Amino acid sequence: MMKILGKYGKDDLAILYIAKHDGKIVEFVESLQPPIPREKKWVLIISTMYGCPVGCLMCDAGEYYHGNVSADGMLKEIDFMIKNRFPDGKIPINKFKIQFARMGEPTLNEHVLEVIKTLPERYEAAGLMPCISTVAPNGCEKFLDELIKIKDELFSDGNFQIQFSIHSTDDNERHKWMTKNIWSLKKIAEFGNRWFKEGDRKVTLNFAVAEDSKIDPKVVKELFNPKKYWIKLTPINPTNKAVNNKIQSGITEDNTEYFPLVQEFRNLGFDAAISIGEWEENDIGTNCGQFATQYKDGKVGIKDSYTTTNYTMD
Ligand code: SF4
Repeated sequence: MMKILGKYGKDDLAILYIAKHDGKIVEFVESLQPPIPREKKWVLIISTMYGCPVGCLMCDAGEYYHGNVSADGMLKEIDFMIKNRFPDGKIPINKFKIQFARMGEPTLNEHVLEVIKTLPERYEAAGLMPCISTVAPNGCEKFLDELIKIKDELFSDGNFQIQFSIHSTDDNERHKWMTKNIWSLKKIAEFGNRWFKEGDRKVTLNFAVAEDSKIDPKVVKELFNPKKYWIKLTPINPTNKAVNNKIQSGITEDNTEYFPLVQEFRNLGFDAAISIGEWEENDIGTNCGQFATQYKDGKVGIKDSYTTTNYTMD
């Protein structure tokens, strides 16, 4: 049973839900990308773990790890958001993304594969696109190999999105920001080459850019083919960990119009863009793990939430 403890945010931007499942706190989000209306694009972002064992330097989800969310738990997160708006399970939305990208490193939870396989038969949603975002921790080999098969069987023709969060081209910096137990860039490139088939979406290489980040587009070009990968640059969100670790974002509201790194990548043949989400989301507190961590620590109570309605879902 999953009990919704609180709901926080705005209907026209992003709503974050805090729930209790198996006696543990989990969070999930539904969001829009203004001015695109919900009929055109709707994004659900679910948690795959209670916390996260990776412990990245700028992510609050890594403050603790209380295990993996079961397949049933993840489906409850998704069902809850869908049933609120589409009780009959028919989702007539052009771009309906389900991102396994909230709390947790999805490739370390094999139940994620089970959930992805279930989605097409569970919902009537022609625009469905599952998305996986990973730091490629050691041990994810079997998961990602299996995911190639699932993508080819059920989500070919560009209906699956995979993102590697690589953050830097410098190994030491990557190890400092994430963990030493991650794939090398070379190994990620080798995997991506096996993953990518004609008609697929390009694999996303994501860099969260700090003021002093080491990102060398030439190193990326040596390993990754611009026909198979695109570059997404994101700001460092002001999570508690980022603030405590004194990581300043290199991308700010003032420099998104002109950020030379984007052009450097484009000059080498890559599609490249800055993805800022919505700055307002920072105020709402919907950055990964931020709310659940505070909730767990008793710093945020139900009374602070957007609504105090409690309800339970089987
Ligand atoms: S960024 Fe992802 S892998 Fe890193 S601690 Fe957060 S949830 Fe875990």
